[in-house]
Amino acid sequence: MDFELTGEQRTLMQTVKSFVDHRVEPRMREIEIENRIPDEIFAEAAALGLYGISIPEEYGGSGLSRLERTLVHQMLGRSGFGFAGALASHTGIGSDALVSIGSPEQKQRYLPRMASGALRAAFALTESEAGSDAGGIRTVARKKGDRYVINGVKRFISGGARAGLITVVARTNADQSARQFSVFLVEPSFPGFRVGEVYETMGSRGHPIVELVFEDCEVPEENRLGPEGDGWLAAMKTLNEGRPLVAARCVGACERLIEISTEYARSRRQFQRALGDFQAIQFMLADMAMRTEAARWLTYHAAVEADSGQLRPQTVSIAKLFASEALAFVADAALQIQGGTGYIADNPVGRFYRDARVTRIYEGTSEIQRMIIGRALLRA
Ligand SMILES: Cc1cc2nc3c(=O)[nH]c(=O)nc-3n(C[C@H](O)[C@H](O)[C@H](O)COP(=O)(O)OP(=O)(O)OC[C@H]3O[C@@H](n4cnc5c(N)ncnc54)[C@H](O)[C@@H]3O)c2cc1C
Repeated sequence: MDFELTGEQRTLMQTVKSFVDHRVEPRMREIEIENRIPDEIFAEAAALGLYGISIPEEYGGSGLSRLERTLVHQMLGRSGFGFAGALASHTGIGSDALVSIGSPEQKQRYLPRMASGALRAAFALTESEAGSDAGGIRTVARKKGDRYVINGVKRFISGGARAGLITVVARTNADQSARQFSVFLVEPSFPGFRVGEVYETMGSRGHPIVELVFEDCEVPEENRLGPEGDGWLAAMKTLNEGRPLVAARCVGACERLIEISTEYARSRRQFQRALGDFQAIQFMLADMAMRTEAARWLTYHAAVEADSGQLRPQTVSIAKLFASEALAFVADAALQIQGGTGYIADNPVGRFYRDARVTRIYEGTSEIQRMIIGRALLRA
């Protein structure tokens, strides 16, 4: 398998890296405290075309390949998950279903504005009774004339408060035992929609997760994505395709943490020597590098498989599981290398440590990834 990157792909990475390192990272402490990303950062991201990476060229995006999107997300991960998460919802789970199963009319109506960043996207599946067991959702959409009436409450929805378009998964049958789900494109201006609780989180701050409330929310029939009852497959495909991007952001975060840690190990002196002279510190750096390198190749492998149209769920789960656990190890070791300095609130390592935790929870917990891998092995 050939993973050689082209000159164009390297330039793409360099452009995003430069933006993240010089424009985003210096604002991350402020973003973390205020739990809000400044509009000018979003505007700069839009000017760079970052909103359009998942959107085909005919609708104003750059239509990047899966590998190229992976490279962009890897670079976004260099500032942790606050800002990266905002773009991730938009260019991953928020837009994937519309791009893959939307009608030409639906795409024309929404994608150009999504590509320019004028319209931000979110994805709403999780409910209080349906987390890992997504099949347990209770939000119901009932057909009434030329519209659907949606009732239910979604929770923990990334960027839901500032989204202009939300892909919502709802049950279109009354019988709780059958998975007859459909997917809808909901605009916040639709009657009966409102944002509920805004959650404070320990990490990934900047694009808060929120509750979305649907009370007799009226959605025109033309906003149903794909045929009625086919929503389960669409939702699972969306999650499956989003997971390699989570892995990519983990890899980028690990790479940044290794840079910070090696710099610190060179400059900090104890016992009249640089910390990096001690074998204990070298071993920590080596273990960080080993896990990061393995995570990077597993992630690229998933991206290449996706580009070939042969993406297997277990490839995705292995990449997401390994990369998120690698980041947990790397963030912990990076903090240990800095000792008390790492524990001071405005040290970026602490932010990465807090952000890292969620990657083993969202888009399928580590336990769910292990279940997918185990079942695939047993089926083979
Ligand atoms: C920051 C953040 C952003 C999010 N963004 C979104 C979003 O944009 N859109 C969206 O729809 N959702 C989003 N989520 C929700 C997220 O996907 C869920 O939190 C996740 O799927 C887990 O569901 P849960 O929290 O209900 O935990 P539960 O499903 O209740 O799981 C609790 C624990 O039990 C374990 N567990 C559950 N079932 C099993 C089993 N069968 N075997 C072994 N262990 C099991 C889990 O692994 C976990 O450790 C977000 C969550 C967070 C924290």
